[in-house]
Parts: sequence; C-alpha cells; structure tokens
Amino acid sequence: MFSKILIANRGEIAVRIIRTCRRLGVKTVAVHSDADRNALFVDMADEAIALGGQTAAESYLKGERIIEAAIRTGAEAIHPGYGFLSENPDFADAVTKAGLRFIGPPASAIRAMGLKDAAKVAMEKAGVPVVPGYHGTSRDPDHLLNEARRIGFPVLIKARAGGGGKGMRRVESEAEFKLALESAEREAQASFGDPACLIEKYVSHPRHIEIQVFADDHGNVVHLFERDCSAQRRHQKVIEEAPAPGMPEDMRAAMGAAAVKAAKAIGYSGAGTVEFIADASEGLGMDRFWFMEMNTRLQVEHPVTEAITGEDLVEWQLRVASGEVLPKRQDELEMKGWAVEARLYAEDVPAGFLPSTGTISHLDLPEDLVRIDSGIRTGDRVTPFYDPMIAKLIAAGTTRAEALSRLERALAEVRITGLTTNAAFLRRLIRQPDFAAGNPDTGLIGRHIEELAKEQEAGPEITALAALVLTGLLDPPASTDPWANLSGFRLWSRPEEVVVLDRDGDWQEVRLTAKVDGGWVVRLGAQSVELGVRRPGADRYRLAVDGRSVEALLVRADAGITVFSQGASHRFRLADLLGQSHADTHAGDHVTAPMPGLVKQVRVRAGEGVQAGQALAVMEAMKMELTLSAPRAGRVASVRVAEGEQVEAGALLIDLEPENG
Ligand code: ADP
Repeated sequence: MFSKILIANRGEIAVRIIRTCRRLGVKTVAVHSDADRNALFVDMADEAIALGGQTAAESYLKGERIIEAAIRTGAEAIHPGYGFLSENPDFADAVTKAGLRFIGPPASAIRAMGLKDAAKVAMEKAGVPVVPGYHGTSRDPDHLLNEARRIGFPVLIKARAGGGGKGMRRVESEAEFKLALESAEREAQASFGDPACLIEKYVSHPRHIEIQVFADDHGNVVHLFERDCSAQRRHQKVIEEAPAPGMPEDMRAAMGAAAVKAAKAIGYSGAGTVEFIADASEGLGMDRFWFMEMNTRLQVEHPVTEAITGEDLVEWQLRVASGEVLPKRQDELEMKGWAVEARLYAEDVPAGFLPSTGTISHLDLPEDLVRIDSGIRTGDRVTPFYDPMIAKLIAAGTTRAEALSRLERALAEVRITGLTTNAAFLRRLIRQPDFAAGNPDTGLIGRHIEELAKEQEAGPEITALAALVLTGLLDPPASTDPWANLSGFRLWSRPEEVVVLDRDGDWQEVRLTAKVDGGWVVRLGAQSVELGVRRPGADRYRLAVDGRSVEALLVRADAGITVFSQGASHRFRLADLLGQSHADTHAGDHVTAPMPGLVKQVRVRAGEGVQAGQALAVMEAMKMELTLSAPRAGRVASVRVAEGEQVEAGALLIDLEPENG
C-alpha cells in the first residue's frame, strides 16, 4: 500500500478519497485553486499545494503543475477522482513517466474508450452488443443525414468525445437533422475541442443500466453488479440506484459477463463502468441491452454499489494501483438490500434549473438518516467555476421502498440557506408514481417536468409565520413594563398590522390581527385564516390552521428568513417599500444574462421586430448552451453585447420596446 498519495481533484470526491486514505493510514496531498483555498478537502488533507487560478483550466487541469506537486511532496501516486484529468490518457502517461503511479487504468485503456466511435468498433470486435448506428469518420452533413435515414428516426446525435450528456441531440425527423447536427457539433467543439459526432438509433423506452467492473494487474476482472441511472434530465443523471428495478437474473449475469469481456478486451486495470442502454418497452430482457460507452474511472454514483456490496471502492482502487490482487473473487461478491443516491445541486429548478451561486449561510444535512458525501460546509461559496453539486445523499434499505422512503425523509430535512437547491424537485421525483413503482426510463423526468419542477407554494400559515417573525410580533417582550408587553396583544383596540413580504421578488400584503386567545387572524388578499402558533424550540414552530397542525423550522440569514416546512423551503424578507427594484414597470423590456457566461450568438439587430419567445441570443455557461428568448413581442431597441463577449450574471444584453413605440 502507498504511504502518501496526491488527489488531483476537489470537492466531495476529494473528501471521499481522503476518508478512505485516513482509514488505511495513507497520507494525502491536496491541490487546489485560489477559489478553493478554504475548502473542506484542503483542510482535511495532510498537506495542500496551491495551484493558483480560479477556473478548472487554470488549476485542476494543469497536469504538469500537479505532477510537480506530487514529486515535491513525495507522493507515490495520483488519484484523479472523476472529471478533470481522470480520463486524460496523456496525463496518465505523464504521471507514469514521472515515476509515479496513476490510480486508474493504463493510458492505452483510456485511449481505447476515449472516443465513443472507436470504442464501439472495439466492442463490436470483442463481441459486446453495441447500439446500432453510424460510428464512421465522415463529417459530411449529407452523408450523415443519409446514415440517419438508414438507421431510421428517431436518432441520437452524440459527440464522439462527449461526456456528461453534452453535445447530444435527439432528432425526430429529417427536417430537424441538419440544424441539430450543427448545434451538437458547436457544443462538442466548445466542450471537448472536437466537433465530430456519431449517430445512434434512439432506443425506445430507454433504461440506462451500467455495470461496475474492477480489474487488477494480475489478469483478474470482476463486476460488482449494476446501477440503474435512468432518472435523467437532459441525459444527466439525477437519481441512481442499485440494483436495477425489475432486472431478471439471467440479464444481470449476461450484462456482467459482457462488461467483464469489455474490460478484458482493452487490458483494463482499476475501477471502470461499462454503460449500457436497455430497451424496456416490453420490460427488461437479456436480448435488449447494448453497450454505449465505458467510463475509465470511478463514477459519481459509486456509493450505491458500495452500499449493496459492503465494499469500499476507493480502497479497491488503492490496493489494485499498489500492485495487490483484487480483494475478492467474483464468487465472493454478493449484493444485499437496495441503495439510492440523489444528487443535491445548487440550482433553481422552477427557473429552468439555473445554477444557483452564492454563499451557503446555513447548512444542515441529515447525516443520521443517510450517507452524505459532500465537500461543502457553512460559509462556503458555490461559484460558477465548478460543478454546482452540494452533496450526494445515499440511502440504503432492505427493500427499494424502504431506501426510497428514507431518502425522501432525508431530502425533507435538508436545510440550506444562501442559495436555492433542487431538494424539492428530487422529493417529487421519488414520489412520482412511475418512478416509485420501479419503472424509470430516461424520458420520465422530461415527460413530467412541469409538475416536478413547479414552484413550491407557501400555504397561508407559512406566509403568516414569516410575517409574524419578521415584524417581531412573536418575540418575547424585552421588558417587564406591563405596558410594553402588549405589542401583539392590544386588547382594547385589536389593531391590524399590515406587512408587505418579499418572497423571491414577489410582494404580498399580509394583514395580522391578534385574537384574545393568543391566536391570530391572518388576511392574505381575499383569503382569511385563523392561525395558532406555538414555539416548542428556539427556531421551531407548530402552526395550527383548521384543526391541522404542521411543524416549521426557521433559519435567519441573508437579511431575511427561510421557513422549512413539510419538505419545502420558503424565503422571505420584508419588502423594501422605498426601493426601486419592484417598481420597475419596464420588466419584460430587458433581456439579461441569467448567469455568468459567454455570449455565443446574437440573433437580432436593433430595430428588428420580434415575437414573444423568439430566440434572441445564445449564451454558453457551465459548458451548456442556453437560448435567451424574448419575454414579449416588440421591437429590439438596442443590443448591448457582441458575440464572444464574457458577461456577468444580470448583465443587460438586449432592450426591447413596444412595436409601435
Ligand atoms: P455521455 O458520455 O455524454 O454521458 P452517454 O453515451 O453515456 O453520453 O449517454 C448519456 C445518456 O443519453 C444515456 O444515459 C441515455 O439516457 C441517453 N442515451 C444515450 N444513447 C442513447 C440511445 N441510443 N437511445 C436513447 N437514449 C440514449
């Protein structure tokens, strides 16, 4: 076993690797960007080396600097985690050349799987079933269109260098093909520096099922069963589980064998994942799964495999890389129970899943209920520089239903302020009937997106509590003067308190009247409710309306409060009645950048008439293309940006004016 390793990564995966290293008595060296200098993983490592820079390109992708850091600190090996340099064969080569061990497969195996087209050719040769399609080298749009016709629509265009669902377009018909190809190529070029795409038959009712494989340098290859990652949004995994619901035993054996064959064919070593797509239109069957690609590294979702097998995959990686044989033979591995992982992201789901950046002012994760893998703590900033994942929640149970219900409860207890999370979306997904029944497919989230992503409504009791707290009406009296004791309890006049609340920019007037019995009458517009409030703990309230009572937890931060109740969170502050922001009657006249990024295209010119919803500009942010459309019909008054410009969140891009104005 190594005595010291360097971790060429950040965030939760760096923390995850350090945990196992500590247990095994292996010392760790962290490397970090300027933006991460106060991060948890940096503090947890035995030593840390600053790489400088903010963006990934300036820091975690600087292979040479990272190798230098390893040599300087006397580390014997480099663990690349996932993402960044983990699947870069030149880096793996450079590590080996420097006399260090790369904790991952040989560079040749990474290369063999690096491009999806070449990988598919190799797998076909090895006798692994692959998705029918075109994986030749032509870039001619007419030729590709012909191939798409031959394959039969719908087809999927995929960047051959792709990953993370980027550069991927589903195409329904010939008419859409060339535009989709162009856009996929553009995204592929931006994300991977390689525009080339392949075309696949779009599998109907697709399920994403992948096999965890492990190989050592002594010729042993095993698999650690499957993970189902069919719950996806735009080809990105949202919830992963193991085992796969409804998986027949013969199919499990066939997929495991195919994955082992794939690993052997490329001389694999270490942890890898062979991803398959299965046609589940008539349930899962062993003649209906095909190889998609192999990820030659540890996956984000590896904890669900750890949960059902009881193995520590990072430990396996370290043992294999240090030359040991695999800790277990195939017949010694078994799976037990069920595990589900949810990816908790800093994102504003109702706003279209926009990454939500900011400083985490309060962080409370239910460590007692589920395994939490996170690299974040209170006070950390979630920046636009890296992936906005806050934590992975991994729930285990003896049955799927038990694991899901534990995960749902854990998500309801996630309490984070300072930015918006996708916790409510994840909970709704877990309760979605098809998902809950064990029938996930990759299109499920897309089909139900409206109900899954809708804004969380605050009941009148929540709004009333916010109003009472923000006005101080519930505060215990500060003095013993009997006349000062009566702020909420003015018997003689029962005056009405009028409060205007600002809930994420929406203003609402709340009228509160104290009742003789200590309760309140709350008027919200035309609605009127009677509310009872008890306070069993400092920030814990019990709210009674209509003979029903609910618990609410309150966190004060960011000049306002966040009320957590029944798995939802609601942010309030007192409206700034004198401020200008809300009085802006020109809302809808401006198109602003929803997040920091690059302006890729400006599609309109000043003076041009536009329709509501018409695409005005395309931005690239977090490596994704984002189309900005007109909030209403009108005419372009001015264009304030040029293509190629880098803009801040909120930057004014385009002004509209009424058509006849
Ligand atoms: P990436 O490397 O970008 O993650 P993958 O090839 O792994 O791309 O595919 C990502 C997801 O896209 C899959 O999990 C699956 O949901 C969907 N997908 C990929 N290929 C197909 C296909 N041929 N038919 C239907 N869906 C597909």
